[in-house]
Amino acid sequence: MANRVTLIPGDGIGPEVTEAAQRAIAATGVALAWDRQDAGYETWEREGDPLPRRVIESIRESRVALKGPTKTPVGGFRPINMPLRSEFDLFAGIRPCRAYPGVPTRHPETDIVVVRMTHEDLYAGVEFGRRDGATAELRQFIARTHGTELPGDSAITIKWLSGGACRRVVRRAFAYASEHGRRRVTAVHKANVMKESDGVFLEAAQEVAAEHPDIEFDDRRVDSLCCELVMRPDEFDVLVMPVFYGDFVSDLGAGLVGGLGMAPGVNLGDDCAVFEAVHGTAPKHAGRNRANPFALMLSGVMMLRHLGEPDAADRLEQAIVEVVREGRAVTYDLTPSRDVQSAAGTSEAANAVIEKALT
Ligand code: ATP
Repeated sequence: MANRVTLIPGDGIGPEVTEAAQRAIAATGVALAWDRQDAGYETWEREGDPLPRRVIESIRESRVALKGPTKTPVGGFRPINMPLRSEFDLFAGIRPCRAYPGVPTRHPETDIVVVRMTHEDLYAGVEFGRRDGATAELRQFIARTHGTELPGDSAITIKWLSGGACRRVVRRAFAYASEHGRRRVTAVHKANVMKESDGVFLEAAQEVAAEHPDIEFDDRRVDSLCCELVMRPDEFDVLVMPVFYGDFVSDLGAGLVGGLGMAPGVNLGDDCAVFEAVHGTAPKHAGRNRANPFALMLSGVMMLRHLGEPDAADRLEQAIVEVVREGRAVTYDLTPSRDVQSAAGTSEAANAVIEKALT
């Protein structure tokens, strides 16, 4: 029976790149039963809920989703990725950054994988607004217990990290390293400043590393890692970190391998996986047939491997690699001039991949 996959087109460039990815996946010959479910900003406008129950139910049944980016209005609802991550316990974000021949990069040897926590930390949404009554109470509590007086017009965002959640994601990073023949895992933190929260992460990473003597382990402070990455990315392999640092480091990684149009990813749990590119909705390109569909197609490659379809995955990846190497049917972001007028559009780039995947 065909694997069932929930397809969430999303907002902005999402519908264009998901359509392209869906067509490219079909060209490999693999049979998937797609269940299309709208979610995100437009769904919120239409249905009053950016993540209706039907979407949750579909993913619960499929246990695999391919998702386009979804827009989050500033001051509006929380990003739908947050409830998705908690609903399905998608505790690890895995974002490979690999420079394929032909992409615009100063570091063609880059081949790193960012594994980031998705639970806890600064993005968990535990926030206290300037005018919330609870904020005044919290300020008083901090003054009483810590001796620090926060200004009366402060807003507060809580960062926390627990040993259990840190160990779990670091174990996932080591598992990824052994499954993919990777030699080294680097824990990324700022434990010299955030001695308590990042200290928990570093200690957990060291504990888990001791269980894996076959894989090298070291750690870096996030600031010096960024400097080293832009100078010598080839010295790194698998990088594991809390969600906040992971947000920036994975965009940096994308920049090393040709940009956000080339950066795939997955949010992974023990029972469920949501495959999604690193990029957002890129509203200025939406509906203009300009966006690079390869990041989502490469997320599709990861999805096919997850579904036990390695031949289809190889076929699709190879087709993308060839189109990128030839450099003729690529979107503006992969061209030397970055000129949108003369570059191929989303659908032409997809057609070129499909032609290669079919032959
Ligand atoms: P959001 O608020 O949804 O994160 P954003 O535009 O702020 O949207 P991204 O969507 O991540 O952030 O994109 C930042 C920029 O990177 C875009 O404006 C665009 O120039 C480029 N970009 C992102 N994704 C793509 C893509 N698939 N193809 C081409 N360019 C892209």
